[in-house]
Amino acid sequence: MTSDLSTPAVPDGGTESGGVLDGNAAAGDFAGILAADPTTVTVRCGSCGATQAFGQLQAYLGGPGTVLRCRECEAMVARVARTPQGTWLDISGSSSWLFPRTPDPV
Ligand SMILES: [Zn+2]
Repeated sequence: MTSDLSTPAVPDGGTESGGVLDGNAAAGDFAGILAADPTTVTVRCGSCGATQAFGQLQAYLGGPGTVLRCRECEAMVARVARTPQGTWLDISGSSSWLFPRTPDPV
């Protein structure tokens, strides 16, 4: 009797959970919620008051939701979580978001 000990192949390029990415990696999760392009937004941290571009925030993907953290103090400034009820947008950690004026279409 032959025993088959073949193990499932490990896919190459698997995403490592827990890795810290920048805000651009989280832009897709916010793009469906915000009318503006998330990467054009400037966010002020509600904890330390630092103002930083969306793309400069630290992004944590792969958890229960997408978390954005302040680069200065690492406080959570925003979180998006998709649930069966809908999409939760938690921005309680930020004090303000600046959506730049979009140029008028000609
Ligand atoms: Zn901060």
